[in-house]
Amino acid sequence: MPETTAKVALVSGGTRGIGRATTLRLAEDGYDIAFCYAANADAAAGLEKEIAALGRRVFSLRADVTDTSAVQELVRRTEETIGPVDAVVTSAGITRDNPLLLMKDEDWHAVIDVNLSGTYNICRAVVFAMMKRKSGVIVNLSSVAGVYGNATQSNYAASKAGIIGFTRSLAKEVGPYGIRANVVAPGFISTDMTAELSEKVIEQALNQIPLRRVGTADEVAELVSFLVSDRAAYVTGSVFHVDGGIHL
Ligand code: NAD
Repeated sequence: MPETTAKVALVSGGTRGIGRATTLRLAEDGYDIAFCYAANADAAAGLEKEIAALGRRVFSLRADVTDTSAVQELVRRTEETIGPVDAVVTSAGITRDNPLLLMKDEDWHAVIDVNLSGTYNICRAVVFAMMKRKSGVIVNLSSVAGVYGNATQSNYAASKAGIIGFTRSLAKEVGPYGIRANVVAPGFISTDMTAELSEKVIEQALNQIPLRRVGTADEVAELVSFLVSDRAAYVTGSVFHVDGGIHL
């Protein structure tokens, strides 16, 4: 294991959107960074350069979060390359929207697999080492849809509600070992995930957001930065909205 004083943060879904903003924010905070991504090796290489330019060590691996052995390899190689994982942020996620009546079985399973089982796989792969070291921080990305539901997103909302139950249970299990686990539930954030929405859908959403604008990935990363830090040392098992008030 390499000699280092810096803490290590592992981010799933690092190459885009909220995951990308989080890797850069945590690098600015002084973390060495590991991240995984689904497909875009060029984006990963570009992000590695940006993180290195901030003076941090970085390791990335193409790893499908639904693949248990790929996730275990991700964690093992992270530990070998930049050291034990102190903080985990699970941002890998997908949507496959449709009313339930039109929902395809494969879209139901894909969303549950990536969002919920992917979160389980990452947390499962890091938790034992964290328990042995009696420290660690986990932040899992849910969504306002996971708290309140959203028409056409029964699969997505179920996966994101599952993440809340999962994280609260985990917080109870690992709290005695000095490990914290929290959930961030973003509202409407401008990323590739929301880029395909029609202007009509965006306009309707804006009318429901008291702050009357969509959020940025950096604004979500700011909350993640707080939650992984010692500023949040007494915060665990909680769900934090960053949504311009859309949940009101
Ligand atoms: P995004 O689509 O821009 O990025 C998602 C990332 O996940 C990508 O880097 C992709 O490579 C990765 N990914 C997808 N499937 C994967 C897999 N099987 N294995 C590994 N990586 C995989 O999405 P985003 O908007 O940045 O969203 C990040 C997280 O925040 C997601 O969990 C999403 O559900 C949640 N969220 C987003 C919004 C929003 O408005 N953008 C709102 C609420 C919650």
